[in-house]
Amino acid sequence: MADIQLHNTLSGKIENFVPQKAGEVRMYTCGPTVYDYAHIGNYRTFVFQDILRRFLKLRGFKLNHVMNLTDVDDRIIANAAAAGKSIRDYTAKFVQAFFDDCKTLSIEEPAHWIRATDHIDDMVKLIQRLQKKSFTYPGDGSIYYRIAKFPEYGKLSKIDLTGIQAGARVDNDRYEKESARDFALWKAPKPGEHFWETAIGPGRPGWHIECSAMAMKYLGETLDIHTGGIDLAFPHHENEIAQSEAATGKPFVRYWLHAEHLLVEGEKMSKSQGNFFTLRDLFAKGYKPSALRFALASVPYRKQLNFTFDGLQQAASSVERLRNFADRLKRGKFSAGKQEGMATRTAKAAEDFDAGLADAAVLEFLATFDKVFAVVEDNDGEKLRTLGYGSGGSGPSDEEIDRLVAERNAAKKRRDFATADRIRKELADRGIIIEDAKDGSVRWKRK
Ligand SMILES: [Zn+2]
Repeated sequence: MADIQLHNTLSGKIENFVPQKAGEVRMYTCGPTVYDYAHIGNYRTFVFQDILRRFLKLRGFKLNHVMNLTDVDDRIIANAAAAGKSIRDYTAKFVQAFFDDCKTLSIEEPAHWIRATDHIDDMVKLIQRLQKKSFTYPGDGSIYYRIAKFPEYGKLSKIDLTGIQAGARVDNDRYEKESARDFALWKAPKPGEHFWETAIGPGRPGWHIECSAMAMKYLGETLDIHTGGIDLAFPHHENEIAQSEAATGKPFVRYWLHAEHLLVEGEKMSKSQGNFFTLRDLFAKGYKPSALRFALASVPYRKQLNFTFDGLQQAASSVERLRNFADRLKRGKFSAGKQEGMATRTAKAAEDFDAGLADAAVLEFLATFDKVFAVVEDNDGEKLRTLGYGSGGSGPSDEEIDRLVAERNAAKKRRDFATADRIRKELADRGIIIEDAKDGSVRWKRK
């Protein structure tokens, strides 16, 4: 098999992937900040990392994968305080929605889902390590990271640090490159806001220390792969490197992988532009999870993805074609003459494919393809029903359809065409299309 090659943001180059321990990959993904429903731009990154992890598994790697939930940050603290709720209560709804969405998009679960609020102790300990090595200084009850003490600062995002004043600091968790400053590891409590009493004083962690502490706790001091959206490269990941490497003296991550932005109809997605979509917005418009997953995976992750409704429609057709193809293969609907050409094409698609095996091998290849892309298996209706959306919400169950189709077959057999037509119409009205094949077999699908 070909070597695995990954583009590493750190080197700016494509590198051969070799994990530290043969056969095992330690991977960390920055999960969502659960202050709202995640949007399709977020899910582009999560689908990307899902395809990566499925691919690594397919290649036989044992995966130790951690994804965090950022359930404490500036926005959550502010929103929870405004709503008069605890952090747990405020974020519960969005955490559940994220889990549901991932399941709906066939995003596999990592080995560990972890929450920042369960790891405050680990963050405090990491800050203490940095204090001992003089990488920190206090200011107004907060604790800041001294970037001048870490000469490699900027190596991930290639930021130019000339002109940055030593000692100038920033309190926000999210800021632009132009505002690169000493950042907060620990934030002093503000009136009315939640805080923790700890060995380093009362307060709450900054966003960046959360990921450093949690990643190293579960994956060791050097990770194989760290993924995230490109917007996280600076300052978040740059700061993760500064914190972790200053504390341990070891490389924090060997391969950094970042997914590019998503545009909607060529524009930046924003609530004020009215082009901001969560998954639920799209399911409510009648789009299927598989089409969305296919659309989000359809452009290489390092290229901007221009999400359009035309494209989503095309993705739906592509999935439909793949499913029909799989279905026809399963039913042996290809004549002998066609198999040769198909085998050739499949062999081209999968290098290690045994071209002589025609149908069975093509099916096997499709199954392999689906282990990574997860769209061929048709479970959209079930997923949408679970979330209470679309025709999936009111459509008949598979069992009921099978029963009605059998009734119709029986009616046709006894030449009771009126009954057969009535059943066909009833199913059509409920969103089920019946197709009669030339050989007398019958298949159905949901509209
Ligand atoms: Zn993170």
